[in-house]
Amino acid sequence: MTTPADTAAAGSRHFVPEDLPTHLQHYIGGRTVDSIGGKTFEVLDPVSNRTYATAAAGQAEDVDAAVAAAREAFLHGPWPRMKPRERARVLNRIADAVEAQESRLAELETFDTGLPITQAKGQALRAAENFRFFADLIVAQFDDAMKVPGSQINYVNRKPIGVAGLITPWNTPFMLESWKLAPALATGNTVVLKPAEFTPLSASLWARIFEDAGLPAGVFNLVNGLGEEAGDALVKHPGVPLISFTGETTTGQTIFRNAAENLKGLSMELGGKSPCIVFADADLDAAIDSALFGVFSLNGERCTAGSRILVERPVYDAFCEAYAARARAIVVGDPHDPRTEVGALVHPVHFDKVASYVELGKTEGRLLAGGGRPDHLPEGNYIAPTVFADVSPDARIFQEEIFGPVVTITPFDTDAEALELANNTRYGLAAYVWTRDLARAHTFSQNVEAGMVWLNSHNVRDLRTPFGGVKSSGLGHEGGYRSIDFYTDQQAVHITLGTVHTPKFGSIAASAANEG
Ligand code: NAD
Repeated sequence: MTTPADTAAAGSRHFVPEDLPTHLQHYIGGRTVDSIGGKTFEVLDPVSNRTYATAAAGQAEDVDAAVAAAREAFLHGPWPRMKPRERARVLNRIADAVEAQESRLAELETFDTGLPITQAKGQALRAAENFRFFADLIVAQFDDAMKVPGSQINYVNRKPIGVAGLITPWNTPFMLESWKLAPALATGNTVVLKPAEFTPLSASLWARIFEDAGLPAGVFNLVNGLGEEAGDALVKHPGVPLISFTGETTTGQTIFRNAAENLKGLSMELGGKSPCIVFADADLDAAIDSALFGVFSLNGERCTAGSRILVERPVYDAFCEAYAARARAIVVGDPHDPRTEVGALVHPVHFDKVASYVELGKTEGRLLAGGGRPDHLPEGNYIAPTVFADVSPDARIFQEEIFGPVVTITPFDTDAEALELANNTRYGLAAYVWTRDLARAHTFSQNVEAGMVWLNSHNVRDLRTPFGGVKSSGLGHEGGYRSIDFYTDQQAVHITLGTVHTPKFGSIAASAANEG
């Protein structure tokens, strides 16, 4: 007889990709280099938690060198001055190269982050799509010209800003890097990327991809390192007018303070604790599929996870029972096994954080599934998909971002109560609403405090739409033309037609004398 643990167990062999680099360097001005002072840090894989590589730990002087290379490429190189079509050709070649390396990229990403291999494969394709999308957008892009008949023509000069500092997190690292790299480069800026220190492996592929695609040296620079060292130096650098950051809300607050000195342009994609609201009239089977995928895909390490499920009372018990049964059957195991649905959390530090929330949850809610490390996986950063029901809004597991495979379920009786619960956190990234009632769906969307709402769906994105959160989930929106706006200056040029009517300052005395 098989137990649930057996059926839900994927193999626990430890797959190590071939030709794995054992040392990761910076990439500055077209060359791979170590830190000037030689400092390094260790990188672990999340299945064995053993160090598999060292990485150069960037310090202020390394960031200086990267910014100098990027500034030189911006001020004197061809990239910012190329026609959009020429830049688009390079971006499309980058997309081709990313697609061609899909398998390698996926195996490296899975090895470094613990993401299930089937989900890592999708990341490469999405990364490629980001480059194709912005290649198309800059070619099609145009700006306004405005005429005041007979007196003025006004038009907009759109210009790249300079060196963009891009700071990215460890969840789906390669794809999230592409989100920033594609629009920053498409618009003619040069960049310094600081990838997350937990997961620097896949970022090491960019240099070769960009070189082969014909991106001029110095346009793309990468500095590995810790957030408090390399990231901090980039944020404070006076030669970097823009910072695009994705990460935790508290880090975003620190960056906001540190960027104030030089009044930088900031784009902040921060944390979330998004509600998934299921009304009794919803297609419950579809809602359950989606609410499971919405929080347990990507190991639950996704900013837009629907990690607070709110369910209308008449279907609450049935929903909880069916949802928990499916959660218990989710296959947890080695990230490289194609049957695996939930892999290993990225790092032991993060594992400890998620595990501590699971223990806390046992005092704050009714445990329906999971509850800690699966029995069949004694090593590695594995946590079984964990479901807590009857969670009250003042519980910490309801309020705080856990960023792992942990979900809370809370009942509600009225639309007003559902809205109050949905808005009852400091976050406001996404919301998912399940109902067949059209008026309710649109009214709820209007009133819910979230940057993005999906009706009868989990997170499926159209790249043209604005992406970003409200409240503590972010500042500004990227996506489509909003990314173009963030990475460019819009200079207004005013041309006078005919005579300008100018008040004649300094002419009063002369005209009075003439009159006298
Ligand atoms: P994090 O804030 O710890 O780190 C993100 C990046 O910031 C890393 O590269 C880190 O080295 C750097 N950093 C840390 N301290 C810094 C400092 N003082 N100055 C400059 N850089 C610094 O976040 P994380 O743990 O890597 O990622 C998970 C978080 O990211 C979650 O909160 C998640 O919700 C959020 N996230 C948000 C989105 C979104 O679009 N809203 C997308 C993905 C992840």
